[in-house]
Amino acid sequence: MLLNDVTDDVSNQLQQQSGLGVQITAKNDVPERGPTNGGVWFQIPRVTAVFADLKGSTALNSDNRPKEAAHAYTYFIKAMTVTLDRFGAKYIDIQGDGIFGLFGGSGSTFSAAAAAITMRTLSERVVAKLFDEATSVDWELTVGVGVDYGTLLVRRLGLRGTEENEVWAGKPVNVAAKLSSVAGPNEIVVSERVFQQYEEASNIRKRALIWSCGCCNGDLNGLGLDLLAGETTCLWDEEGAPVHMGLDFDTVFKLQSTWCVKHGAEFCEAIITGKHPR
Ligand SMILES: [Zn+2]
Repeated sequence: MLLNDVTDDVSNQLQQQSGLGVQITAKNDVPERGPTNGGVWFQIPRVTAVFADLKGSTALNSDNRPKEAAHAYTYFIKAMTVTLDRFGAKYIDIQGDGIFGLFGGSGSTFSAAAAAITMRTLSERVVAKLFDEATSVDWELTVGVGVDYGTLLVRRLGLRGTEENEVWAGKPVNVAAKLSSVAGPNEIVVSERVFQQYEEASNIRKRALIWSCGCCNGDLNGLGLDLLAGETTCLWDEEGAPVHMGLDFDTVFKLQSTWCVKHGAEFCEAIITGKHPR
């Protein structure tokens, strides 16, 4: 009988795992692959997870509009993958129709921030444009990005003889996914502990991450990094964290801005390197 077979199989597999026990090995950076041997798990501190969600994708019903849905996912997932990779994400994976990247080591929050703003910018300026050219559907392609920071555990698990997958246990991936789902169209939402790192960063990073370049409404006369923090507009909105989501912080911070076409490159460099670009 099938049910008894399944139950026996699960029991046997769990007994085998139980015999292996659990061994936690500390790692400094995000590995490309989790361990498969014995009961070993890697524990990695200071990981920043960036999760990108294609907004309103259920409205692009793949039963009715398979070609349009395929176009949207192809352009979106490709663009997000390349961006995460180029900004130094050590691990990139697709979860459902969303995609996440993990940044490790010191400075992970800042590479992740630069990647997130680029993902949001390119979704609007490149991905949505290409989608509109390729299709005639009345649906706007937008992204929601969530970012969180903390410690992760990883190992590879799956059926023997088939492809095993990384299991990432811990807050950052979960919380980043939740924040991407509450983000509005073309909005980035970061957790309180991520924004705290922006506020505690060096002057140049704080300047580039939190404050505007001074340009507005297509007028590119802003003074960019020469304006001091506080002399221009704060780009982030502080809001109460959504309730009933099991989040362990009270506040989230939201950003809707894209990179300025004039100052974006130097702001991006300042955020990543922590130095004033010359
Ligand atoms: Zn500007």
